[in-house]
Amino acid sequence: MKIYLFDVDGTLTLARQPMPKDFAEFFVKFCEGKEIYLSTGSDFEKLVEQVPYNVLRACRGAFTCSGNVYHAWRDDIALLEICEDLNYRNDFEPPPELLPDLRCLLESSDCPVKTSNHIEERTGMINFSVVGRDCTQEQREEYAAWDKENGEREKIVSVLRKKYADLTFNIGGQISIDISPVGCDKSRSIPYLRKWHPGCSIHFYGDKMQPGGNDYPVLKELRERDTHEDVESYKHTWKLLDDKPEDGGKYAMSNIRELIAEVNPDALLADGLNEAIVGYGGQHPMIPVAVYDYDKCVEIFMRDNDWDWEGAIEWMEFNVVQAYLGPGTPIFMNKIDDDWDVTPYGEQKK
Ligand SMILES: [Mg+2]
Repeated sequence: MKIYLFDVDGTLTLARQPMPKDFAEFFVKFCEGKEIYLSTGSDFEKLVEQVPYNVLRACRGAFTCSGNVYHAWRDDIALLEICEDLNYRNDFEPPPELLPDLRCLLESSDCPVKTSNHIEERTGMINFSVVGRDCTQEQREEYAAWDKENGEREKIVSVLRKKYADLTFNIGGQISIDISPVGCDKSRSIPYLRKWHPGCSIHFYGDKMQPGGNDYPVLKELRERDTHEDVESYKHTWKLLDDKPEDGGKYAMSNIRELIAEVNPDALLADGLNEAIVGYGGQHPMIPVAVYDYDKCVEIFMRDNDWDWEGAIEWMEFNVVQAYLGPGTPIFMNKIDDDWDVTPYGEQKK
């Protein structure tokens, strides 16, 4: 059985923003007949600000506060009672020097904007933000860009890690750092899911899968037959889910990976071009590799990037076809049909 686990910020919504209405409608339909769980660094109060009730109801439950609290509900329970139905909680007493250290880091930060609400104690964790959680959306974006350039959160995390070996520090969302005891992070959800659904495979979607990101601990807990999708935005998630018209539709990256890996575990796939895969093939004695329809790839580039035909061909030639990445490199096939005319690559067929 398949279990789906979705991060919220950056995966189902823009950071700290409500889930877009059209995506929410799509997501509710996607949830039908599936076991869906949410996992967020935020608390339940913030979760309900972002995710509408009909979406929450379509899910089985939600892990909040970085996996330290779990909320579940049943169909016959009134919506407002949802938050009362806690299955477990993990309380965390921070070491006495931690809060003074965080204040010290806050004061010494060169960050150009500081607002208020920098240290938020949640169940099982502390959320630390130099710009402060009371910042406006504009200030939030400003800090995110400044942090990207200056690597402030990474520096803070490396300083704190050296001193507090019993704690984990994960960069989450756009502006903050999640702090919790080792093991009390988003990965906590995984043993529960395995316990509640024995024999299940877990399919995890998150936007912070890199080491130090708050989805990374979940990734580390996944096993061979589980899958994960490292998404760039809720739109990316939407596109991946939309590629699954039925449960596990043929364009899901995980399914294609699985199919091709059966014939060659070292076969490489081209990003975002799953729909153009026609199969696999090769020439003896080479091992089979993925085969793509060249024209379909061009169509996808035109559709997804609003490029004209020439732009898509140029990209395809220089960045896709000419990229040799070893013996697992895919084949890009030009089909022969009735109006086929022999042309060198890069010239439009008649
Ligand atoms: Mg996220």
